[in-house]
Amino acid sequence: MATKCRYCGSSHVIKYGKTKAGKQIYFCKSCNRYWVKDGVFHRYPKEIRKVVVRTVLEGKPVKEVSKEFSVPATTIYKWLRKEIEGEINENKKENQLLQNIR
Ligand SMILES: [Zn+2]
Repeated sequence: MATKCRYCGSSHVIKYGKTKAGKQIYFCKSCNRYWVKDGVFHRYPKEIRKVVVRTVLEGKPVKEVSKEFSVPATTIYKWLRKEIEGEINENKKENQLLQNIR
């Protein structure tokens, strides 16, 4: 049973793992896009967001990552900002805990 690409109709589609909710993620090798079966059309699965953020943090230029995953650079920057803010908040929490101990 061949799955066809939702965007370009190609059958060069591979399974790319599953979302937390257990929905199948597909990746099209022809147009390099991802989507989730029965998923919302315009949203990116959390798993892809994670991979994108990690790839950028590993030092790959946002422009390249944007092309590779077909995610707009502005979206990637938004994700990065959230990721970094999340880490800062974690650090703050840790510092507060340490101060309480002292
Ligand atoms: Zn495609």
